[in-house]
Amino acid sequence: MIEVSPSEFCVHLVSGRLQNPRTAGCSDSEWSGIQLARFALPGADMNPDHIDFISAYCDRWCERCPLTHRCSVFTAMAAMTMCEDERAGLELAFGRAPDDSGVVAPPPDWLRDLVNVEMSADAADEFARRQDQRRERVEATSIMQMAKAFMHLGHDWLMANQHAGATEDSVVREAFEVAAHDLIFIRVKLHRALDGQDSRNGDDGSADDHPVQNDWNGSAKIALISLERSSAAWSVLASASGQETPAVLAEQLKDLRAEVEREFPDAWSFVRPGFDAG
Ligand code: SF4
Repeated sequence: MIEVSPSEFCVHLVSGRLQNPRTAGCSDSEWSGIQLARFALPGADMNPDHIDFISAYCDRWCERCPLTHRCSVFTAMAAMTMCEDERAGLELAFGRAPDDSGVVAPPPDWLRDLVNVEMSADAADEFARRQDQRRERVEATSIMQMAKAFMHLGHDWLMANQHAGATEDSVVREAFEVAAHDLIFIRVKLHRALDGQDSRNGDDGSADDHPVQNDWNGSAKIALISLERSSAAWSVLASASGQETPAVLAEQLKDLRAEVEREFPDAWSFVRPGFDAG
């Protein structure tokens, strides 16, 4: 028997509902230790102003975010920067929950069960095999192929035209910043959306996922938002530079957006915590 560590066995909530991480498409990069720590620390995140899962479907552009004060991830990152120590930072950010005698309560049973869940070596191998197969299926989709091609071409153009990011023209500078910010983000979010959708249809799926408020629709929605603004940004870069590559990329993003909308017809209806009116 093996013990599954917290980073391997993350927890995921969609719309306030605890969901098995295997069916939620969690990955270490997407679902960071910071978020897990909100649950792992006894009495974690005592701040009632924080919005659950606001950071799961945002654009991760914290410098421009109007809701940093409602975001536990931002709070944790700021505190860890101050403390230069992860645990001290997390405790500063979220506090702990001592009782009147100053005693910190132990983690709830459900969390102990979750973190200490035992999985046989065979089951772990089988789970890893299914994950690898799913990753291959996702990467082979036309959406991921288009996203990958866009990312590489866009990266090369931005690297070769960095002067556009330092121009006096604020419209062009803004377009450059948007294009650069979304370059990798789009691919990451699309992978997550497709991975979650694929899980739903396979052995790792869950029958009780909400038809609209689910992780793959939320991931697809933030990808669509980035696709929309990035396409506009690349059009600005095309006009300003007179070059063909940014114009081609702007068109590619429009095509990609249309394909994502076909694949995730309910994505625009997903309500993102904190950002969308429910
Ligand atoms: S919600 Fe805002 S502050 Fe939090 S991670 Fe997203 S962009 Fe950053």
